[in-house]
Amino acid sequence: MDARTNERYRKRLLELREELRREGAVEIEPLREGLEPTEKIDEDAAPLTEMNQVIASNRNRLRTRRLQQIAEALERLDEEPDEFGLCESCDEPIPPRRMELQPWVHLCITCQSEQEEQDAPGSRKHLTDYR
Ligand SMILES: [Zn+2]
Repeated sequence: MDARTNERYRKRLLELREELRREGAVEIEPLREGLEPTEKIDEDAAPLTEMNQVIASNRNRLRTRRLQQIAEALERLDEEPDEFGLCESCDEPIPPRRMELQPWVHLCITCQSEQEEQDAPGSRKHLTDYR
């Protein structure tokens, strides 16, 4: 990738990292929209709270993972600027649009789907699962 494009991705990565840091860890909130309004009392609220904790901790995990991915991408930019934006698996250029949206990715969509399929067979369509 040419230096100017890499510079743009670097800037984007730094911005994203900044955003994530500002956002901070997600607080565990009582009720979120989309859930039934609660007129019930404590014993019924317990499972809800538990679910919210799961959601919050999933989100924190995702955030931590994203920060990690961004750090790795910045490292790759420094160490292998020529390889940046190429799929690590098949060496094809990752489409610029994908790179703009997710500058930390190091696999093209095809290879990433394959990898996810291997990591967790059949689970790709269940991103909203709490597991
Ligand atoms: Zn690929």
